[in-house]
Amino acid sequence: MDQSNPSYSRFGVSYFCPVCKSEFLIKSGWTATGKQRYCCKDCGKRFIIDYTYQACQSHTNRQIIILTKEGLGIRSTARVLRISVTTLLKRIVAIAKGIQQPPIAFGKSYEVDEMRTYIGKKSRLRWIVFALDRDTKTVADFNVGRRTNKTLKHVI
Ligand SMILES: [Zn+2]
Repeated sequence: MDQSNPSYSRFGVSYFCPVCKSEFLIKSGWTATGKQRYCCKDCGKRFIIDYTYQACQSHTNRQIIILTKEGLGIRSTARVLRISVTTLLKRIVAIAKGIQQPPIAFGKSYEVDEMRTYIGKKSRLRWIVFALDRDTKTVADFNVGRRTNKTLKHVI
């Protein structure tokens, strides 16, 4: 490793500053809970890197969106991104809240589909209902919930 430009990685994922995205990080002591603290050499921001951090990266969110669009299931997506299913579902909900709902145009056709997933017990099944724009293949709207008309109606 080039000592003048250290960059740390774990699981093959490069770390970068949450503020300026610089990879020029140096180790900067420990937190009270024993987590390694890093300092960004470019903007001076100090932060820790852990599981939560990794999942919080907007980079991860982008990958979640890409993998979901590719039709990868929840479990496979979690495995590929090395985050837990619970974390992934939390991220999906957070991404959903941040999505600006595209205008739904009249006279356009949308494909409504659903994905089934569950957390822990099979009795806690959850459905993700989504509407796809047939022309652009983008998700126009979606909702997460139990398999009820309420969940479906939100999207329709
Ligand atoms: Zn920075």
